[in-house]
Amino acid sequence: MLTGEIKLRIEKYYPRGVELRRHIHQYPELSGREVETAGLVADTLREAGIEVRTGIGGNGVLGIVRGGKPGKTVLLRADMDALELNEAADVPYKSKKPGIMHACGHDGHTAALLMAGMVLNDLKDRLPGTVKLMFQPAEETTGGAERMIEAGILEDPSVDAAFGCHLWGDAEEGTVLVKAGPVMASPDEFRITIKGSGGHGGMPHLAVDPVSLAAQVILQFQTIVSRRKNPLEPAVLSVCMIRGGYTHNVIPETVDMMGTIRTFNEGMRDFIPCEMEKVLRGITSAAGASYTFNVTKRFLPLVNDAAATALVRKAAEEVLGPDNVHEAVASMGGEDFAYIAKNVPASFFFVGIAREGKAVPHHSPHFRWDEGALRVAAACLCQTAVDFLLES
Ligand SMILES: [Zn+2]
Ligand SMILES: [Zn+2]
Repeated sequence: MLTGEIKLRIEKYYPRGVELRRHIHQYPELSGREVETAGLVADTLREAGIEVRTGIGGNGVLGIVRGGKPGKTVLLRADMDALELNEAADVPYKSKKPGIMHACGHDGHTAALLMAGMVLNDLKDRLPGTVKLMFQPAEETTGGAERMIEAGILEDPSVDAAFGCHLWGDAEEGTVLVKAGPVMASPDEFRITIKGSGGHGGMPHLAVDPVSLAAQVILQFQTIVSRRKNPLEPAVLSVCMIRGGYTHNVIPETVDMMGTIRTFNEGMRDFIPCEMEKVLRGITSAAGASYTFNVTKRFLPLVNDAAATALVRKAAEEVLGPDNVHEAVASMGGEDFAYIAKNVPASFFFVGIAREGKAVPHHSPHFRWDEGALRVAAACLCQTAVDFLLES
């Protein structure tokens, strides 16, 4: 519904969307420090005549578009934070901040939601209900969505459905991927220290070598996923950091390791650390070593509501045509939109940025995408909100 009107206005605001995206890209801010980005978002909303609340759960910003008639409330969400890496892509709008880069596409999410807000504000007299535009901090680290929920973003007026999207390097430009059910994993973290006793590299029998124990632990961990868990339930266990020792002839006292556990349900989320602990206990006790093992639970798995997802699918088909809307494959990435989806019926979809089948890796210093994706993201968000308000 109103698809022609939406498309027309997306074109009208596209140059502004590109300009905003490039500015945000040039001045990226790390998680929890999105002060200037939040300021730009609030100013842009105000200039468009949209009601704004700031400082929600940290640097969170909320825009509120009130329709001409009473109705339901729909929330659209974007994230604003960048990552700690040096941009290597040669683009005219390259990051001006050494060591900080929008390498996940959150600059695009913010610009696309601002475009969507401007379009919905233009159409508000014809819409029943309310649209909440949620710009959240700290998606990449501590989960800004949860703090915005604690600060009451889902209340006053209370939200009936929520939608968000991610630019996606694994999907072709001009397409959108949707999926009901689990779509993104719990990205839990672990830290391990194996404590042996140091000694002479030439006299290992007088020491307890934590380096060889760490090697055994890592290999044994691989059998948790391949041999211990149900093969039909997905999980990933990756040791991503190992640190121990200083030189070639000294057995060190300790080895530290860090890594990530990715799962889709609470049962598996508890099972994997439990099995890891068994491995650690067995290998270290046989050698007379000890260990510490800490797991930090991060985001919940993201589970899309079936009815909300059907609505996104229909809206995306209205905007792009049915041939350009496909079924997503669940990802082992994490996403704190999960907290919104836990509280209200919600769906998170994926907007393609790959060109000619060549995937674009996120969190890479070479991450880049064509701004045509802003049109797709903004139009699909708008259409979904309009259809939800007009049809429910
Ligand atoms: Zn990311
Ligand atoms: Zn992201």
